[in-house]
Amino acid sequence: AGQRAVPAATADTVVAAVHGTVAEAPTHVGYEEYVAGGGYALLRDCADGIRSADSLIEALEHSGLRGLGGAGFPAGRKWRIVKAEAGPRLMAVNIDEGEPGTFKDRVYLERDPHRFLEGMLLAAWAVGIDDIYIYLRDEYHDCRAMLAAELARLKAAPPVPGLPAIHLRRGAGAYICGEESAMIESIEGKRGMPRLRPPYVAQVGLFGRPTLQHNFETLYWVRDIVERGPDWFGGQGRNGRKGLRSFSVSGRVREPGVKLAPAGITVRQLIAEYCGGMADGHSLYAYLPGGASGGILPAALGDVPLDFDTLQAHGAFIGSAAVIVLSQHDSAAAAARNMMAFFRNESCGQCTPCRVGTAKAVGLIEAAQWDKALLGELSQVMRDASICGLGHAAPNPVDCVIRYFPHEVGA
Ligand code: SF4
Repeated sequence: AGQRAVPAATADTVVAAVHGTVAEAPTHVGYEEYVAGGGYALLRDCADGIRSADSLIEALEHSGLRGLGGAGFPAGRKWRIVKAEAGPRLMAVNIDEGEPGTFKDRVYLERDPHRFLEGMLLAAWAVGIDDIYIYLRDEYHDCRAMLAAELARLKAAPPVPGLPAIHLRRGAGAYICGEESAMIESIEGKRGMPRLRPPYVAQVGLFGRPTLQHNFETLYWVRDIVERGPDWFGGQGRNGRKGLRSFSVSGRVREPGVKLAPAGITVRQLIAEYCGGMADGHSLYAYLPGGASGGILPAALGDVPLDFDTLQAHGAFIGSAAVIVLSQHDSAAAAARNMMAFFRNESCGQCTPCRVGTAKAVGLIEAAQWDKALLGELSQVMRDASICGLGHAAPNPVDCVIRYFPHEVGA
């Protein structure tokens, strides 16, 4: 029902098949094939002075591309901020992909690594970056071998002279290392613990230098946005939203997977048009719009546009667009227990509201009847006083259960 499988990978098929399932590729597009399909021509145009850095930044700004790791910061604005800082400037690329339910970066990386690498090099050129550090999830062993081999090909036959140095770093196997400042600590060889901000990493990042930090997928779209024009990306969207989103859909749907769909699509539309409907014997009961961090919403809110800024009023957020679908056979409270235990285990332990708060919450929600007042106080303290997003978001599933599924917890 509306689903179009992407044909076998070639340099141009990934984006040609806009709106549909991004099929897992049997093989990836290698360096030679990518170049033969027009890859790195844009980078050469930049090096040859045919395109200016400003024109690239303007294209990104007009496209409305936002950080697709979850924070949603406008990409073009970030480029301008880092470029305004004194050099040397560094870049950190986040492919840690640790948010439960998120697998889009891996799928794209496995299919078309050079589309990402070209986007990364375009960003580096436009901003004036000296060194790039790619932080790849340690569990992605095959991706690491493939990416190392493709980087070696790129370095052996660089499409333009004077490429920045590119360092491929293994992730540390911890959820918190996907947080931007903890990732930077980890790249520097330290324990991955988030930093207090300000200063922001754009000013004081890797090794104390101004740092452009991006999620993999944000960079993946740069080439196509510049080549096709910002209206191509920004002109897509539904329900008043702009752009494309790659939803990692899992749970009780007939056809889970990475779904490239318009920003602002609702979960009901996503399931019906891109996932072949609900799995047999299951009807929509609840959904997680943004992995473990983004809260749990009831089926009654299945017509809310999924995008940055659209879910806050409902106590949720889209984050990295990992949509987990629950049915009448599932329990929102059980999901919240699972997620709070995850946050307790993954808390870096640096600050008390998160370290102690997640552990206390795990204990409180084990009860059949939840103490709503006490949990509400605990959530508020965690939101107000935690250092980083883990502590801020950890109460979301619990708060959502109290708000939308009180019948499950004895209210
Ligand atoms: Fe660490 Fe949690 Fe504090 Fe973040 S909020 S710094 S994960 S203890």
